[in-house]
Amino acid sequence: MKNVWKLTAAVLAACVLAGVPSFFALRERKALGELSARADSLQAEAESVKAERDGLARALSDAQDELAGREAELEAIQNALDSAETERDGLASQLQDAQEKIEELSRTPRFDPEGPEYQQLYPDFYAPQPLDASQAPARVIYLTFDDGPSVQTGKVLEILARENIKGTFFVVGRSGAASPDTLRAIVQAGHTVGMHSWSHEYKTIYASVEAFLADMYKVFTLIRDETGVTPTFFRFPGGSTNSYDYGIYQDILAEMLRRGFVPCDWNMSAQDATKTPLPPEQIVANVLSAGNVARGVVLMHDSKPRSTTVEALPDLIAALRERGYSFAALTPEVKPTLFNYKNFEQIPR
Ligand code: ZN
Repeated sequence: MKNVWKLTAAVLAACVLAGVPSFFALRERKALGELSARADSLQAEAESVKAERDGLARALSDAQDELAGREAELEAIQNALDSAETERDGLASQLQDAQEKIEELSRTPRFDPEGPEYQQLYPDFYAPQPLDASQAPARVIYLTFDDGPSVQTGKVLEILARENIKGTFFVVGRSGAASPDTLRAIVQAGHTVGMHSWSHEYKTIYASVEAFLADMYKVFTLIRDETGVTPTFFRFPGGSTNSYDYGIYQDILAEMLRRGFVPCDWNMSAQDATKTPLPPEQIVANVLSAGNVARGVVLMHDSKPRSTTVEALPDLIAALRERGYSFAALTPEVKPTLFNYKNFEQIPR
């Protein structure tokens, strides 16, 4: 029996001894299996990271490509912008050329074969006869009185009658309309009556050629209808070349000459159109200051405030006679006295 136990114990011991190494071998295999699985998992993870890196690298490459594309696009836009700017500069220069051309054309008179329409206006507004431009005798004074008639006109007429002198009156229409008797008295005494506008309003008269004609036509018809005389002479208010008609003076003059009228400026002046009337002796001195002219057209005024002009008149006549002058009224034969552009009259506004 003891042997049985011994045998059993031996068998058991053999089994144990045989089983221990296989137990360890089993454990080792299990650990190896786990390590292998771990390695596989790491391998898979590494492949996934690599795939991700490759993906990112492609994305980077794509982004770089896109950036390069955008840069090319930007460059194309910049080029287009540059050429648009060049084109704009070219157009601006063309525009400037065109503007200069327009300005030049606007300064060039246009030829209209029909002529301006105002030439058809007032068909009876023409001077009575063709003029003989022959020279009047030398050493003659033509006294001219502007801006009347007024209360001074009758006094002037008396003095001229007493001195046996004929003069010329450039009348203002609205004053003449107020005293038609004086207009008639001027004509009846043998003086010349000329036109000096209806209104004497510079802004109105010199607004245009048409405005000038409309204004002058009114005084023309007044003189003609009240006195029976068709006036030939006219005097520009402010003188022919002044700061109001600058720019249309030539057109006005051309049209009035075309109608046969004779403009009349002056070469001696009383300078009596002052705010405060000048002393008579000053008026005489002013006229004589023109010097020893061959033919003197004397500007004076017979409007209401010009009482000292009337006072100066007898002395002025005497002084001129002393210098060897005779006196006459303007007639169509007298050579017109007209300013040149150097006589430009700056009229205060
Ligand atoms: Zn005047």
